[in-house]
Amino acid sequence: MSLTRVLFYLPLPPPDRKHYVPFHRGVGQIAAVLSAAGCRVVLRMPWHLTEVQARAEIAAAGARFVLVSLATPQAALLRPIAAAAAATGAALLAGGPHPTFAPDETLAVPGVTAIVRGEGERAAAAFVAGEADRPGLIRPGGDPAAAGELADLADLPLPDRDIFHACPDFKFERRVIGHEFAASRGCPYRCRYCSNAGRLGAYGAAFQRRLPVERVIAEAAAALARDPDTAIVGFNDDIFAQDIDWLGEFAVRWRATIKKPFWVNGHPALLTQERVRLLKRAGCARMHVGVEAGDEALRRTILGRTMSNDTIVRACERLRRAGIRIVTFIMLGAPGESEETYRKTVALLRRIRPSWVIQSFFMPLPGTPLGEECRAQAPGKSWEALSDHSFYLAPGRSWTPFLTTERLKELGAGLLKDVYS
Ligand code: SF4
Repeated sequence: MSLTRVLFYLPLPPPDRKHYVPFHRGVGQIAAVLSAAGCRVVLRMPWHLTEVQARAEIAAAGARFVLVSLATPQAALLRPIAAAAAATGAALLAGGPHPTFAPDETLAVPGVTAIVRGEGERAAAAFVAGEADRPGLIRPGGDPAAAGELADLADLPLPDRDIFHACPDFKFERRVIGHEFAASRGCPYRCRYCSNAGRLGAYGAAFQRRLPVERVIAEAAAALARDPDTAIVGFNDDIFAQDIDWLGEFAVRWRATIKKPFWVNGHPALLTQERVRLLKRAGCARMHVGVEAGDEALRRTILGRTMSNDTIVRACERLRRAGIRIVTFIMLGAPGESEETYRKTVALLRRIRPSWVIQSFFMPLPGTPLGEECRAQAPGKSWEALSDHSFYLAPGRSWTPFLTTERLKELGAGLLKDVYS
């Protein structure tokens, strides 16, 4: 049987010492679905790429199909890839947050054959099989607002990790990150800068799904059999273990069978004493906590995160007492950010005393209330024109009237010193 060859692009931010090249679960699961359908999938994870380079890669892979998983900060990379696909006669399917929330704009890029809105596993398989019609699979002239299908997570095959290890851009990090898993999809909150608000708007509570504990344990055992020396593993769920009964079962099973320390993302409002106790019992060594800003009014009214500073500090105290290390997410430069709000962020971080701060700059995203408000200030500009592929490192522009782009860069560069000095 001849294999259908697929080249999968996952454009990433530029490399930097503070950020790493991540395993991407969605891409791994789509690749596994395609492999089961008789495809050979090759992965590339570029942060810059010319059309000439993309043509050479498509030709070298012998690809009839090119898939691109695209977030808005990397939107500009679609053009050279799509032009190369068109020049080589390959059909191109774009999916991910950018095509989902900026569908018209993505479909208009020359060389794009179709887009996927929402989850891509079934739509990608239908695209490669030549099916004309599938919910969420949209071709030029189709309804760009049509919502895609939600997958039953337990029905999906384990993600294909081999395509990452075979990709020259991927560097597996054993000491701090390790193998990455996810036990759920979806989050109940509606932060105004996050595309989860758009997903909840399209699907409601049905968007939140989780895997059975047994399945999570089986996946971790399989991944660790390959790399038993990994020091730690992690869970990329938006918020890990939202259901306390699930967490109780997970704590017992993980401790008894996998026995590896792990990191998770958590929400301060959910970090009760009991939840922290169960996480510690399971082996949680590090929690990533979204703080984003220290000014309560800015955090509540602009960012849509309603918890108080005291709630955040109390949650972090529980983690510290349990011996779970704290890493905080901070986002500088949201509309309304000023010298004063920055000082409040520093003051809150000094109260929290995190082991590390992961800092980014605000960038407006399609499908988010705050992103749409910002775009209204830049009439006629596409999301691609507003995209900023290095926004983690340095902002391309300022979205607050109180700070220049240069001043924001200075604040970002000095944040760690201001917190720890
Ligand atoms: S808690 Fe996190 S994932 Fe959930 S809406 Fe807010 S930013 Fe998004």
